[in-house]
Amino acid sequence: MSKKQSGFSRRDFLRTAGAATAGSMLSVKETIGKISGTSGSELALVPTRPFGKTGAQVSILGLGGMFDIPSNQLVLRQALKWGVTYWDTADCYEGGRSERGIGSFLAKYPEARNKVFLVSKSDSRDPSGMTRLLDRSLERMKTDYIDLYFVHGISGIDELNKSIKAWAQKAKAEGKIKFFGFSSHSNMEECMLEAAKLGWIEGIMMTYNYRIMQKTEMKEAVAACKEAGIGLTARKTQGGWSFGSSSAAKLVDTFIAKGFTDAQAKLKAVWTNPNIASICSQMPNITILMSNVAAAMDKTKLSAGDWRLLDQYARETASNYCAGCSNICETALGGAIPVAKVMRYLMYYDSYGDRHRARSLYGQLSSQVRARIGSFDYSLAERRCPQGMAIGRLMKRAEQLLV
Ligand code: SF4
Repeated sequence: MSKKQSGFSRRDFLRTAGAATAGSMLSVKETIGKISGTSGSELALVPTRPFGKTGAQVSILGLGGMFDIPSNQLVLRQALKWGVTYWDTADCYEGGRSERGIGSFLAKYPEARNKVFLVSKSDSRDPSGMTRLLDRSLERMKTDYIDLYFVHGISGIDELNKSIKAWAQKAKAEGKIKFFGFSSHSNMEECMLEAAKLGWIEGIMMTYNYRIMQKTEMKEAVAACKEAGIGLTARKTQGGWSFGSSSAAKLVDTFIAKGFTDAQAKLKAVWTNPNIASICSQMPNITILMSNVAAAMDKTKLSAGDWRLLDQYARETASNYCAGCSNICETALGGAIPVAKVMRYLMYYDSYGDRHRARSLYGQLSSQVRARIGSFDYSLAERRCPQGMAIGRLMKRAEQLLV
């Protein structure tokens, strides 16, 4: 396949990232048009994959909606033009502004609705609360239906009971949702394995990246979901970030020299698994959107050397990355401290630079938890942590930074 047919070369990849990071004078259209060999109006679209056995085709790159969408409508418009048609939001994102921003867009461009695979989530676990939140989401987003509706952030399959199953069937019969499932940051592998046995879960969004995808447990969980026909969406695909570490600097330098950014390489690592239908990525501006679209369109595969580099980086920075296995550390602590949640808030603070969200979420922890978080004895949890994290030091850091 020629370079023009395939869309992007590695060198073009670097140019895109360079243009993005250096604030090139080229317009987005000119840049993408140039690297794809088209005028810009005939662009190839981001590829699609089947979403489990639902019959839906979804873009392999999804637009994560945890940003100020009302003020960034251009991102939605450009995402649609480039074929980023999987849009993810939640009732709670940005205090409802995320869904309202999508609603503003769909009100202005109603023809966009049937092009978008729209995903939203409920923090409620009881049928009446879920109905209230679903109706609010529909009203905010100016739509009659949501393609995929998640129970948000489960950490155990027992959070999905028979009443939720009945609720999902009713919501589907009423035409308010097409498909149903859950998202998970914690104990993902166990949740996925159990979900595969249920027979009524159609989609799962879970933490998945070059670190976690190598674990035997995650490989087995993905295989079980594939067998059960469950569509899978990966999130947190960048796998955290180690500021100032020599490993991080080496990773960046090596990939740049090869024509990738390290962020693009990490996306490509996830797409290596054909059973991952889409990556949900926070792309709050055109720069990041363009860089990720370039990664999605590029056909170049990661080499064995690229994988070795990612594996080495994952090993060297393991103690900086929480893998979400909260049943290990939190059981060791008798359930007294929600360690994995707090680790996630620290990630928002450090890796995403989203201090407001990190502090807001931390502030929602109970006063009892906040009162003891910095002085609790974490020694048993630290001994059991497979990542070797300094849990006590990090909880103390959270107490200092997130108040
Ligand atoms: S702190 Fe360690 S044991 Fe706890 S969830 Fe994170 S990686 Fe797992």
